[in-house]
Amino acid sequence: MAGNQNINMNNTLAQFADLANTMIAEEAQKPMAQHIPTDELFSTLDLSLADEAMDEAAFIASFKELVLSTPKTATKAFFNQLFGGRNEKAILGELFAVLLNNSMYTYKAAGPQIGVEKVVLEKVNEIIGWGPQSGGTFAPGGSMSNYMALLMARDVINKDIRHQGVRGAYTAYTSEASHYSISKNAAFAGIGRDQVRKIKTDDQGKMIPAELKEQIKADLAAGYTPFFVNATAGTTVLGAFDDIISLRNICDEFGLWLHVDGAYCGAVLFSKKYKHLIKGIENVDSFSFNAHKMLGTPLSCSLIMVKDKQHLNASFSNDASYLYQTDDDEFNPGKTSLQCGRRNDALKFWTLWKSVGTDGLEAIVDQQFHLADVARKHIRNNPDYTLYSFDESVSICFNYKDIPARDICTALYEHNELMVGYGSFDGEEFIRLVTVNAQNTDVEILEFFEKMEKFVAETLSIEA
Ligand SMILES: *Cc1c(COP(=O)(O)O)cnc(C)c1O
Repeated sequence: MAGNQNINMNNTLAQFADLANTMIAEEAQKPMAQHIPTDELFSTLDLSLADEAMDEAAFIASFKELVLSTPKTATKAFFNQLFGGRNEKAILGELFAVLLNNSMYTYKAAGPQIGVEKVVLEKVNEIIGWGPQSGGTFAPGGSMSNYMALLMARDVINKDIRHQGVRGAYTAYTSEASHYSISKNAAFAGIGRDQVRKIKTDDQGKMIPAELKEQIKADLAAGYTPFFVNATAGTTVLGAFDDIISLRNICDEFGLWLHVDGAYCGAVLFSKKYKHLIKGIENVDSFSFNAHKMLGTPLSCSLIMVKDKQHLNASFSNDASYLYQTDDDEFNPGKTSLQCGRRNDALKFWTLWKSVGTDGLEAIVDQQFHLADVARKHIRNNPDYTLYSFDESVSICFNYKDIPARDICTALYEHNELMVGYGSFDGEEFIRLVTVNAQNTDVEILEFFEKMEKFVAETLSIEA
C-alpha cells in the first residue's frame, strides 16, 4: 500500500510538472487569461461535481482548462493588487510546505520547521532592534495580524475581558485611509465598529497627529476608554506612511497601544534606503507586515511582531492536553496563535531569505521603489496625465486624458489587455498602478503605459 502511494505520488509530480510547464509557457504568450463574464462561467468551464469517478485523462483535461482560464497574477500584465510575480525560491518552500503537510502548533508535529519559524521571527525582531523579550508569530493574513494586535491591546487595557467579555466602552483609532480590517476586527473583538475613530489625514494621506489627540481627549471627556492606535505603513490606496514617532508620543501620553499595520509596505524594514519611512518602529508595541506583498512570497505570509512577547501568551494561550504533550512552549507556537492547526507559512519566507540573504530582500524592496520612480517619471513627462500620489510610494495613482479611471480599468480587463485597479482619495477617482512585483524591470513598466495609451487611442475612443 505504501509503495502504491509513492507510485501515485510520482505520477502526481509528473502531472504537476507537465501542467506547470504548459501554464508558464502560455503565460509568456498570453499574459492575461481570457476574461469570462460571471454569467458565462458555468457554461464555459465544466466545474460541476458528479457521483461517478472521472476518467483520468478527462479529469486532467478538465483541470488543465481550469488552470489556464484562471487570472494570471505572476505576469507582466498584472498590476491589480498589492502582490504579484513568482519568486522561485519562495515557491520551492511553499511547494514543500504542501508536500510535508506539517501543522505548526507543536514541535512534535513539525520538528525543525518550528526552528525555521523561530529563526525568521527572531531575525526580524533583531532587525527591528528588539531584544530577547520580543516575540511574534505568523497569522493567516494581514487582516488577522491586525486582529491579533487589537486583541492584545484590548487584553492589556483590561485583563478581565478574556473571561468576562467586553463591558465598558472602548475606543480604537485609525486613519480614514487605513485598511477596512480595523473596523471589521473591532466588530469581532466586541469593541464595536462605532467605537473605531477614523482620524483625518493630511493631503498626502497620513494621519494628522493633532486630530488624533483631539479625538482622544473628546472621547475621554465623554467617558470612553481609548486603548488602541493603528498606524499604517503603506496605505492601501496612496501607499502613505503615518508618522510613527508623533503617534508614539500621543500613545505614551494617554497610555495606549500602538500598532503599525505594515501589511503593504512594512517590508521597507529591510531597506537601508527606505526604512526611514517607518522611523520609530522600535518603539511601537506591535508591527505586522505581509511577506506576500512587498517581498513577493506566495499568499499568504503575514507576520505579527510584538515588542513584549508576554502579550501573545496572555491573549492567545490555551491549555489543551490532547495537543501539548511534549516540549516547552517556546517550541510549541500553537500557544501563541489565533488558530489551532497552522499552515507552514514560514518556510517560503525562509527559503527565500536563506537563498538571497538580507541583502537580497533589500534589493527586492529597492527595485519596487525604483520601478515606481520610472512610472512617475513617465507620468510627469506627459501632459496627458494627472498624478495624485507622492514620491517614496509604490502606488502610482493617476488619470489619463481625463477619462474616468474605472472605464479604462474595466475595459482593459474585459479586453484581456491589463489588470490594474482604481482607487480614490479626497473625492478624486484614479487608476492605481502598483509596482510591487520586483521581477518587473523598467521595460515592463513602460510597456504598461504604452499598452494603455495604445488601447485608449485604438479601442476606447471607438467604443465611446
Ligand atoms: C493588504 C492589506 C491588509 C490585509 O492583509 P490581508 O493579508 O489581505 O488580510 C491590511 N492592511 C493593509 C494596509 C493592506 O494593504
